[in-house]
Amino acid sequence: MTFPFLPFTRPAIDEETIAEVANVLRSGWITSGPKVLAFETALSEHCGGRPVRVFNSGTATLEVALRLAKVGAGDTVITTPLTWVATANVILEVGATPILVDVDPVTRNIDLDALEAAITPQTKAVIPVDLAGLPVDRDRLYAIAGKHNLRVIEDAAQSLGASWNGRPIGSTGDFVSFSFHANKNLTTSEGGALVLPADIDPGLCERLRLQGVRRFPDGGMDVDVLGGKFNLTDIAATIGLGQMKHLAAFTARRRELARRYFDRLDPALGLELPVADFTNCNWHMFQVLLPVGTHRGKLVAAMKEQGIGVGVHYPALHLFSLYRAQGFRQGDFPHAERIGATTVTLPLFPSMKDSDVDRVCAALAASLSEIA
Ligand SMILES: *Cc1c(COP(=O)(O)O)cnc(C)c1O
Repeated sequence: MTFPFLPFTRPAIDEETIAEVANVLRSGWITSGPKVLAFETALSEHCGGRPVRVFNSGTATLEVALRLAKVGAGDTVITTPLTWVATANVILEVGATPILVDVDPVTRNIDLDALEAAITPQTKAVIPVDLAGLPVDRDRLYAIAGKHNLRVIEDAAQSLGASWNGRPIGSTGDFVSFSFHANKNLTTSEGGALVLPADIDPGLCERLRLQGVRRFPDGGMDVDVLGGKFNLTDIAATIGLGQMKHLAAFTARRRELARRYFDRLDPALGLELPVADFTNCNWHMFQVLLPVGTHRGKLVAAMKEQGIGVGVHYPALHLFSLYRAQGFRQGDFPHAERIGATTVTLPLFPSMKDSDVDRVCAALAASLSEIA
């Protein structure tokens, strides 16, 4: 029996949402408008009523958060080398210096002891990342940030729907950034959202989002700050609104599928599994580390041969040329390097069937023995 190709992820957009997108396309108003406001309201509700503004990417939210936190030249920002490179790129984009510290080998998230040890008088902010949707320890994180008077920009691109101490990620803390890229747990095709802390003016956030323009009731306008072009369209916001209705169900289904991986993956394969957290984590990705000596390229090819897509998220970013040019070297962050070199992302998305998990597990066993 042959099966259709199983990708590592796939968005789930219902017919009602597709019809609503068509309505927007016919309405005569397709850029930012009422759908954007409605999507911001829905996100704010999810985030305990905190102010939320949506953007055309998660990267844009991180950059604007840094600007709102007044991070710039002469400042340093501490983050993890094991993330999508956007997290570090935005630090360079605003003229600040990224300081990287290694990850905890178990959670694969930034090591908070290393973070605290790396703080200097130049440190202005930290950008923790909830890799694969597993939250960084918020209690410890905010204890450190409070003690050293640092701003926190939570890169929660992967952790919408996850929680900490029973509260949704986004409902507490300082700045919180989400991404709605096609592969994220909730998508608008491309997009992002920024949850704002109480001391930040949402109006300024809106001006940084769109050319710095301030409009007055009499029809006049002024530009008093340099803003970008980061607004989300109503087309995209409509997709997001349709997705919000399913967020809880998506997360629940991802947790079920993750549990099944733990049940079905043969321990004899020697894979290093993620933390088995079914309370906080939203299971954005199910990532296993391959046994020492496994040729990852061959494994990915062997899985593809069997009709299964496997992803690589992410090589440690300090080894990219741009970051080597900043002075980072092989050997700087051994845990991130080892994880980045051996990690593979197995298929996991809400519309997957239980039998798909079984198929992945069988194919993985066959592929590992085939290439051994
Ligand atoms: C996806 C992602 C981003 C960037 O989001 P975009 O919407 O693609 O700009 C940033 N950080 C992390 C950890 C991500 O996974």
